[in-house]
Amino acid sequence: MQNDTIAAIATAQGYGGIGVIRVSGPEAFELVLPLLRRPNGVVDLPPSHQLTLGHIVLPETGEVLDETLVAFMRAPHTYTREDVVEIQGHGGPLVLQRILRLVLAQGARMANPGEFTMRAFLNGRLDLAQAEAVMDLISSQTEMGHRLAMQQLRGRVSAQVQDARHDLLGVIARIEASIDFPEEDVPTPQAEELAPLILTAQRKVEALLAGSEQGRLYRQGLRTAIIGRPNVGKSSLLNALLRAERAIVTPIAGTTRDTVEEVANIRGMPLHLIDTAGITPTSDPVEQIGVERSRAAAESSDVVLLVFDGAEALTEQDRRVSDELWAMGFGGSHDDRDDGQKVESDQDIMQRRPVIVVINKTDSRQYIEMEEIRRMWPDVPFVATSTITGEGLSALEAAIVELVMAGKTVQSEGALVTSARHAEALRRAAEHIRASLVPLRDGLPLDFVSIDLRAAYGALGEVTGETASDDLLERIFSEFCIGK
Ligand code: GDP
Repeated sequence: MQNDTIAAIATAQGYGGIGVIRVSGPEAFELVLPLLRRPNGVVDLPPSHQLTLGHIVLPETGEVLDETLVAFMRAPHTYTREDVVEIQGHGGPLVLQRILRLVLAQGARMANPGEFTMRAFLNGRLDLAQAEAVMDLISSQTEMGHRLAMQQLRGRVSAQVQDARHDLLGVIARIEASIDFPEEDVPTPQAEELAPLILTAQRKVEALLAGSEQGRLYRQGLRTAIIGRPNVGKSSLLNALLRAERAIVTPIAGTTRDTVEEVANIRGMPLHLIDTAGITPTSDPVEQIGVERSRAAAESSDVVLLVFDGAEALTEQDRRVSDELWAMGFGGSHDDRDDGQKVESDQDIMQRRPVIVVINKTDSRQYIEMEEIRRMWPDVPFVATSTITGEGLSALEAAIVELVMAGKTVQSEGALVTSARHAEALRRAAEHIRASLVPLRDGLPLDFVSIDLRAAYGALGEVTGETASDDLLERIFSEFCIGK
């Protein structure tokens, strides 16, 4: 239901200098105005979009709940495009709750999660990609994530999607006009005319898709497990990477034998670092739990930093860690390994998951057998580090970024698709566009072409929300917090 008036606390839970209660809907003004007692007894509605000083009072008893600044904002120039009132009170949970209860008692309904933003979408102020960007903006962890969310909020992603959509519509219109009005002398368009137009749209969709993997990493970050036998310097490395520049995230703490996950900001990418207890088999039951967890950590990670102690000769444990990781599918080409047999196909090698070998403790005299490690990990990047002098840390960061970006540079201007949902819709659109070219090439009736073009057009519309189902909308907005 959209014609009722909703209210919620819009600021974060907890204690703060101020807190804001947001009210939106046709009755927002009349619900709040009677609660406001202003200096000199003024009672009429203040000018739109200006702050008004006043007390919020309980109508029955006259008890003053708070001293506030209130903004009455007339539709349509508001967040939701409805009449909106924002009450700025003091930021205590109890104070805000009591004011909210008062507003609800006046007849407002408690807002659902994301309902303010959903109304902004339904009233056409934001498209769906922009509405989703609100959430990304709020949850962004690095400056890069912030910048990408802001680009999406400002409509850059939407504009590029709409551009491709517009191209498709042009083609669809020409085909359908010739089908619907053959007698009106609308000439049947020729494949040679249509193909370049379709290819243009295809290029635009594929350009958006090309950046989406990078975009995903910038938004979600990269899960990175630090693996190695005890004492090689895994925790020290974790701390050194965190010191570089920490992302704004609450650390998830564990015990020393457990895994610890923290988020570092590596050149704009949130790097979820998982320190582990090593994955060598052990009989100690407590340690065994740690081993299981680090195996799980490696299993769920995008990249593994495999750490060795350069100041010591390789141990059996080092070798076992390497073997285990290899068995789990990490690493590059393995054909130089001792058995001399090339078991994996090229396809398999392509799918092996990324590892960076870190030779730590370069500040000390080196005893490690580099040749043996290079034989074990022939196709992966090597970085030598010292967590004491800081040597190699920047090279390690570069290697991580290089590995996941595969040499691509981040566009700072054009928009980057960061949402998995958008990427999925774009992929479907690209498939349909590709499929539309087949009947065109084979000289089949143009209906066959337009069916796929329509499907592509629809898929693109899911990004901006024109063709999004109610279910989809509900799912997206339910991920928001209340008050957004
Ligand atoms: P973990 O068990 O793999 O997590 O290793 P730690 O990070 O606890 O480090 C084990 C020991 O190696 C500690 O005494 C560290 O101070 C030391 N260490 C870590 N990194 C370096 C390094 O780069 N150089 C030297 N010389 N010692 C290091």
